[in-house]
Amino acid sequence: MFMEQAETGNLQTLLSLIGAGLDEYLKFEHPDALHPGNNWREYLDRPLPQQGVGIEQVTQDLLSQIIPNGSPVPRPGFSSFITTGSTSASTLASTAASIASPQRYMHTAFNFLEELSLQWLAEMCGIGGMQGVYSSGGSVANLVALGGARQSAFEKIGHDPAADGVNQRVSVYASEECHHTIQRSCGILGIGRHALRMIACDQKGRMQVDALKRAIAEDQAAGRLPMAIVANAGTTNTGAIDPLQALGEIAVEHSIWFHVDGAYGLPGILDEQISPLFQGLELADSVIVDPHKWLGASVGVAATFVRDRQILYRAFTQEPADYLEGSVEHGDQSAPAIEHSLDDFGIPYFDFGVELSSPCRGVVVWALIREIGVHGMRERVKRHNAMARYLAHYAKGHPNLEVLSEPTLSICCFRYVSPDISDLDQFNQRLHRRLVRENQYMPSTTRVKGRLALRPCFVGARANQSQVDGLLEAVLRIGRGLESES
Ligand SMILES: *Cc1c(COP(=O)(O)O)cnc(C)c1O
Repeated sequence: MFMEQAETGNLQTLLSLIGAGLDEYLKFEHPDALHPGNNWREYLDRPLPQQGVGIEQVTQDLLSQIIPNGSPVPRPGFSSFITTGSTSASTLASTAASIASPQRYMHTAFNFLEELSLQWLAEMCGIGGMQGVYSSGGSVANLVALGGARQSAFEKIGHDPAADGVNQRVSVYASEECHHTIQRSCGILGIGRHALRMIACDQKGRMQVDALKRAIAEDQAAGRLPMAIVANAGTTNTGAIDPLQALGEIAVEHSIWFHVDGAYGLPGILDEQISPLFQGLELADSVIVDPHKWLGASVGVAATFVRDRQILYRAFTQEPADYLEGSVEHGDQSAPAIEHSLDDFGIPYFDFGVELSSPCRGVVVWALIREIGVHGMRERVKRHNAMARYLAHYAKGHPNLEVLSEPTLSICCFRYVSPDISDLDQFNQRLHRRLVRENQYMPSTTRVKGRLALRPCFVGARANQSQVDGLLEAVLRIGRGLESES
């Protein structure tokens, strides 16, 4: 019988067992979790245990039932959405942090890397000198950035929205291709989802500058406060990059906060072939990037950058609490030096966002960059962008394939076509279902100008050209099969 004293495990042994199970998983020879014949659900679905089974059994359950029935996301051929598996460096760093530094605050090596990695990340992504804060993902990172925008816009009219709430209607401008977390952020920030003015895009999915100018002029005439211009540095749909320079100049001219959502696409700046598209980034008041997308961090790592974190402090500051600040004050004013990691919290990241308790994410980003350096990251980004371009090139030369959006970054939207198919949307939807069920090449779908597209997005560290070749082979084979069935 296992009683409360459960901390008896030997991590070296247990982690090496789990490591072996994970290496096995990464061979991707197992079937999908929902493959008929898998009976993990019967095994796992038990009533609340009154008696524990002990750590060895927990380890065995992980190895035999849980890990092998995990997610297809880390598969090299998985190119759905914009998500991927973590690399080993990320897994090692986050495992280390979970034991050795459960919190990011206090003066530890982990806390030091929180800041150092933010600086590295900013420098690598062309926004060196900006100040950052980590959060759980692009959703929260956008919220934090727009919290800064709200603070800035209202302070200019002599009002503190964080303390007193908003006292007038505002507008946020983003393209109709913006990520839907922008609207949600507006809702959470109390300005309302309808504060978002969706600006029309051009044929390539980029915000139309003239349409933005008109919208701002209309709002100014109607006495609405412009709060932020949100630009995409890589849309989720097609990877399009808004005209950052032109949008940034408009923001400067009207003194409107300029936010760049680079959750997915910001590391694209490493590819010399497209880095000119990022011109104007230096005009941004805030920028976000998700290391858990292109950089290979385990999910739960995003960063918001601003020019001066004090704006975030004013936007997200908490009222003082005796249970926090009180316990780290080194009351002895004659010896203000910090001599113990608990003498002070260090940089108060918890006042620059919405999380108090938070894992150390900096060590993960540090590990990723330290392992392969900027050169390694650049090679990855270029490889993935080249894969999307190759796919587009191949599809254009093939009578049964059609490109629906020319790649900017590592997304290529395309579909299967033939003069004999009457409903191409439905056909490609069916093709996509079959493709996914083969469990090898798994793009998602989207709509480009109303047409259903297969949409691979290559961000996985394990993905290479062979996944493009495999995807093309599978799409053509399944497409021909479906045609011959009808
Ligand atoms: C993925 C994405 C987000 C949301 O990020 P999460 O990490 O999934 O919360 C926001 N904006 C863009 C452009 C994205 O691609």
